[in-house]
Amino acid sequence: MSEAAVIVYSEKKKAVLRRHPWVFSGAIKKVAGEPADGDIVTVRDEEGEFLARGYWNSHSAIRVRLLSWNQDEPLDERFWRERLQRAIQGRHVQNRLAEQGKPVAYRLVNAENDGLPGLVVDRYGDWLVIQALTLGIEVRKPLIVALLNELLAPVGIFERSDVDVRAKEGLPNRCGLLTGQEPPELIEIDENGRRFLVDVRGGHKTGFYLDQRENREIVGDWFRWDEYAAQREVLNAFAYTGGFAVYALGGLVRRVINVDSSAEALRLARRNIALNGYAINEEDFVEGDVFSVLRYWREEGRTFDLIILDPPKFAHSARQVESAARGYKDINLLACQLLKPGGMLVTFSCSGAISADLFQKIVFSAALDARCEAQIIRWLTQASDHPVALTFPEGAYLKGLLCRVWR
Ligand code: SAH
Repeated sequence: MSEAAVIVYSEKKKAVLRRHPWVFSGAIKKVAGEPADGDIVTVRDEEGEFLARGYWNSHSAIRVRLLSWNQDEPLDERFWRERLQRAIQGRHVQNRLAEQGKPVAYRLVNAENDGLPGLVVDRYGDWLVIQALTLGIEVRKPLIVALLNELLAPVGIFERSDVDVRAKEGLPNRCGLLTGQEPPELIEIDENGRRFLVDVRGGHKTGFYLDQRENREIVGDWFRWDEYAAQREVLNAFAYTGGFAVYALGGLVRRVINVDSSAEALRLARRNIALNGYAINEEDFVEGDVFSVLRYWREEGRTFDLIILDPPKFAHSARQVESAARGYKDINLLACQLLKPGGMLVTFSCSGAISADLFQKIVFSAALDARCEAQIIRWLTQASDHPVALTFPEGAYLKGLLCRVWR
């Protein structure tokens, strides 16, 4: 093969042998040949021994994303088909529901974690929504779309490549229909028997926080077995389109108050709550900044039985860890102060740069400053359709704690 060879320094070889999928610019000693961006390159050690193969991008700090460590494996159409098949087969539970005609929503391809660096594919009923996060995927989009059509025959494939990481790859944002029929303005999905309207064109991520599916169910289950459920007041902070609210209401709690800074998200939250048959009370939807709303309620002496904190990513890089930690501590401290004795705190961080260990320490220090005693009832993580490759610990980004808090 006439692929360009990327030679990595001896001391950087270990990461490649350990199958971490990223080769950074600093690991590269020299490049033999002139690969075009997106081309397949062979990664070799200083002695010229084969290490791995992946796609090249001179515009990214991650120069090579590795695809295969098998010298005899050609990275042809068959390779991509098999990788996609493997990812799809890994979601057999949801696939079965989809085959039964349920409009389920789930992640079919979780990028690096499914051996397909830079590619995200989510299913919303009859539509697929894809994100091409890297140039290597961008240039292979026609092939990937053709294979997805062959393997899954969706009604349409929509692209939501409007993400910040594209800029780091030298790519503009892109959003729109790729093949098939335009999705409706809102796609109605079924999640564990709950109905949600999803805006795949303008919603966050590909439209819905699929990664919280199992945690939403844990919150719903909490009330299902609670004999005092009918008296419970829940605060759903960073509510988005009401995901956690619908599950809590399913536990027949007295009320769920949703706080979000986006009026649009709250509009859809109202519709989702109504769609599931629950009454809408205008005072249960508060448009505002969680930090100030919680502070205000603390001064008012307001209390809740369960508080969900599911903020957006506070740390976008290692440099932001410290300021992010202050933000997480602040809201967790406020939440502890707003809980009734024995109340429940369901708290999350989706910042990859904040480890589960650090997050637990932050919540610990918030509880301490709030003079609360707290116990962890459960450690929470991303849903099982968001697997983490053992070679890629960066894939574990969502961490959460279900705590009981005493004051
Ligand atoms: N729990 C939701 C997802 C939350 S996403 C679910 O399961 O679907 C985070 C949400 O926080 C977004 O809707 C965003 O609009 C909102 N948000 C971001 N910063 C905020 C702030 N400072 N105050 C209130 N809401 C905020």
